[in-house]
Amino acid sequence: METEILIVGAGPSGAAAAVQLGQLGIKGVLLVDRDRFPRNKTCGSGLSPAALHVAEALGIGPELRARANPVVTVRFVTPAGEELRVPAHSAAVILLRKEFDNLLVERARSLGVHFRDGFRVTEAVEEDGRVVGVRGLDGSEIRARWVLFADGAHTLFSRDDRERRHIDALMGWWEGPGFEPGRLDMIFDRALSPLYGWLFPETATRVNIGICIDAQDEYGRKVPRDLRAVFQAFLDRHYPDVLRSARQVGGWKGHPIVHTTWITSVTRPGALLIGEAARLTHNGTGEGISQAMQSGIYAATAVAQLVRGEATENVAWRGYVQALRKRFTAGFAGGYLLRDLVASGALDTLARTYNSESFQRAIHWIVGAALTGSTSQDAPAPYGEARDAQRELSDGESRVA
Ligand SMILES: Cc1cc2nc3c(=O)[nH]c(=O)nc-3n(C[C@H](O)[C@H](O)[C@H](O)COP(=O)(O)OP(=O)(O)OC[C@H]3O[C@@H](n4cnc5c(N)ncnc54)[C@H](O)[C@@H]3O)c2cc1C
Repeated sequence: METEILIVGAGPSGAAAAVQLGQLGIKGVLLVDRDRFPRNKTCGSGLSPAALHVAEALGIGPELRARANPVVTVRFVTPAGEELRVPAHSAAVILLRKEFDNLLVERARSLGVHFRDGFRVTEAVEEDGRVVGVRGLDGSEIRARWVLFADGAHTLFSRDDRERRHIDALMGWWEGPGFEPGRLDMIFDRALSPLYGWLFPETATRVNIGICIDAQDEYGRKVPRDLRAVFQAFLDRHYPDVLRSARQVGGWKGHPIVHTTWITSVTRPGALLIGEAARLTHNGTGEGISQAMQSGIYAATAVAQLVRGEATENVAWRGYVQALRKRFTAGFAGGYLLRDLVASGALDTLARTYNSESFQRAIHWIVGAALTGSTSQDAPAPYGEARDAQRELSDGESRVA
């Protein structure tokens, strides 16, 4: 079988690349995935504001708005146990990956992309050092002018020989009446430092809860630990009451999150790596959906240049790498800043300061002074109480009349 462009993997990176190629009017795009769709993916399914912007550009905004569960409040808990609540104003949402990934795939199909699920790729086919297609588990070959490898954390196609740094993540799902609707938790528990555990609200009554923790120490050595025991202790510490009245849905699921700071080795002659196959996740939070989709868009743009004869492969691939570095390197480096904030205790200090009465008073005073142009912001009399008393009085009078 032959196609112009082949995409291996229909997660957010591969499906986004397919959508973008469709949006650019490129024909002859085949998207394959080893699983039957819609399929589950072990993931918190949290879509950050960045992810929502990219999803909008990919044309699935209306469906997302109709189906996703908006985050109303974010509750941070620092390593010392200081709690910080921040209104989220629906700037982030949760939508099960089974639904989200399928939305992207359906959008790609509506734009003329061919989709073949249940097709497991086992190896790349190369000629003279150039990727010219792939071979499937059934032995069949798909040949293509360009291939995008979007097969996630366990990629078979990366030529990156640097050590594979990753975060271990373990999670489960619970259904029950006791969860605060729309509340997302990020708990920077000392046992997970400098990473965290989470609770993400999938619906009004169902949440997913998980932990992420560095798999390696600072020297890159695997840290031996019983992840299930760490997770159980986390649940016992943070959610003993609410989980007693909740029902667990399915079993716990674990999966690595592969990350890097310096983006490299994401191109091969005839092929690009995108999404987590290119290690594009945030090392401080484990976020990878927005990076996956964005890299898919950049890769589609590079391939479209080739199809239209606007650039040589060298130039297009170089443009792809530059776009990734420009978009992600500062954020990935910032991930280490977040890790330092957590590990050094600075997050505790920040939260304590933010929660303190004197800080709140100072902020009110500054905002008040800016709004009124006056340093005196106390009313001469308790207006609110006086007005309420007056209203009660006149209500009573009108009832009598
Ligand atoms: C527990 C956990 C929680 C997470 N929570 C969040 C979160 O809340 N928000 C967030 O932004 N990120 C989260 N992430 C990260 C996010 O899940 C990934 O970074 C993101 O899914 C990467 O997208 P991708 O398209 O590159 O790869 P994937 O989503 O992994 O998709 C790869 C696709 O390739 C297919 N495939 C693999 N091998 C083959 C093959 N040989 N042949 C054919 N097909 C193949 C797979 O079936 C799959 O569909 C989480 C990760 C974990 C592990």
